[in-house]
Amino acid sequence: MKKHNFSAGPSILPPEVLIKASQAVVDLDDSGLSLIEISHRSKAFVDIMENARALALELLGLEGKGYKALFLQGGASTQFLMVALNLLEKRAGYLNSGAWADKAIKEAKIYDDIYEVGSSKDANYNYIPKGYDVPSDYDYLHVTSNNTIYGTQIKDFPKCDIPLVCDMSSDIFSRTLDFTQFGLIYAGAQKNMGPSGTTLVVVREDILGKVSRKIPSMMDYKIHISKGSMFNTPPVFPIYTSMLTLEWLKGLGGIKAIEKENEKKSRLMYSEIDLNPLFKGFAAKEDRSDMNATFTLENENLKDTFESMLKEAGISGVNGHRSVGGYRASMYNAMPLDSVKVLVEVMSELESKA
Ligand SMILES: *Cc1c(COP(=O)(O)O)cnc(C)c1O
Repeated sequence: MKKHNFSAGPSILPPEVLIKASQAVVDLDDSGLSLIEISHRSKAFVDIMENARALALELLGLEGKGYKALFLQGGASTQFLMVALNLLEKRAGYLNSGAWADKAIKEAKIYDDIYEVGSSKDANYNYIPKGYDVPSDYDYLHVTSNNTIYGTQIKDFPKCDIPLVCDMSSDIFSRTLDFTQFGLIYAGAQKNMGPSGTTLVVVREDILGKVSRKIPSMMDYKIHISKGSMFNTPPVFPIYTSMLTLEWLKGLGGIKAIEKENEKKSRLMYSEIDLNPLFKGFAAKEDRSDMNATFTLENENLKDTFESMLKEAGISGVNGHRSVGGYRASMYNAMPLDSVKVLVEVMSELESKA
């Protein structure tokens, strides 16, 4: 029986995507060849790459607006240093809103000066810092739209004159935003788009080429753009599967349609967390993430009962990150509302038993 998969990443994908992707591994579109045994320079794969890149821009509303989409390797973690290598000349601002942001800061500091515009580190990142100033002479401001581990999400992005760089790994394609406010967006595929192994980078071309350092080829966005995201052999399977997810999303009606579903799921989840006296939300209410809901069980004695009930109900992947503890329900795009209903029912059943 298929489980209710609340894993934070790698995470749930639409069932039809899994079926199509697995078929393509055996025989791609009745070609008599597997997706993973053909040349990445073949027309079949070049078409897949172009389609995936175009779909990403189309869904974000960035077609014809000076942006390019790339599917790179090395995870979002490689973007921590690639952003700095390509954009950091003198000084950049970073919002320290979580462990991933903290890691991005650490990498960028290798290359030049970093200023933390705000930090919630001393509160174990349970809120999003706000009300900070962004000096207009910085090279860029780096933010993390959704803090996967803590379950916080930026609702209003800072207005600034410098390029806004955003790690959107865990909420890309989940909500409508004016994506033209960003100079660069990156996202590891494995949270809301596909399997691990590729990272989507969307960059406004005019912010590139302004640093004086020499950039190694594999780290250079301009080189990847000039080679159509095929400077070297791309990870064909994660890109193909991501393309299928983006087609699935487009078929549903795009980000606007999925946003409605995501709001229903998070509303249901948080109302149970707030109304059920056995549970307590971790993140500050106004900053709660629609993707990852973090909560704790107040009475430790009920832990074993709760966890066996979760197991019984076929719920998987709700354990919290070790730095927060408790539970985390990740409700990415492919998560059906019905799975959230099952989780909420288990939580309220625990209350009636206690
Ligand atoms: C998971 C995650 C990362 C790390 O991604 P990798 O692809 O494993 O390097 C970075 N940022 C955020 C917000 C994440 O959720």
